[in-house]
Amino acid sequence: MIIAIDGPAAAGKGTLAKRIAAALQLPYLDTGILYRATAKRVLEKGGDPADVATALAAAQSLGADDLARGDLRDAATSKAASLVASIAPVRQALLDFQRHFGSRNGAVLDGRDIGTIIFPQADVKLFVTASVEARAQRRYQEFLARGEEVAFDEVIADVQARDEADRTRAAAPLMMAVDATLIDTTEMDADAAFARALELIREKLPR
Ligand code: C5P
Repeated sequence: MIIAIDGPAAAGKGTLAKRIAAALQLPYLDTGILYRATAKRVLEKGGDPADVATALAAAQSLGADDLARGDLRDAATSKAASLVASIAPVRQALLDFQRHFGSRNGAVLDGRDIGTIIFPQADVKLFVTASVEARAQRRYQEFLARGEEVAFDEVIADVQARDEADRTRAAAPLMMAVDATLIDTTEMDADAAFARALELIREKLPR
């Protein structure tokens, strides 16, 4: 069983996807980590994340250690991740890994193009979103919880810029698959989003 969860930055996809995976005993892949880890490798070598050859070499050399790093969520890495993610050869280089991950035992994957490109035949497709204010507020709280000092205005500007870049890029732009179901979490807490998602999953699956 493949469950695809797509949506814009800080919509609560990760939290939701992890809970669904645990409940259904499926492997979970946060595909954003692949782009973040690629970006981190480029930044650490002093490279330009928008440079095709540099970003591609970083994507092709990713290892398990890169994906397990705990420092991939800072603002600079997020921005660079969005840049490397707009490069078609980088996306191509990361595609097999994602498909292979899901094809062994099924999986829950979250990202931007899971239901449209990576697993267009996914059994369940959810598109999780929330207002930009709600998403920025959640991201801001995450920064504060990690002890990172950041202004709310900067967080909302970053989220908006990343949304815009992800939606308007030519390569696998962020969009809702025609057969996906929307979950708007603006007025929902994590428990409510989880309950709604489980309800939708049960409706879609054969008994
Ligand atoms: O989901 P997360 O915020 O960790 O993703 C970081 C960046 O990676 C996104 O802004 C997006 O540009 C890119 N991404 C993507 N496709 C995915 C997952 C993430 O383009 N499937």
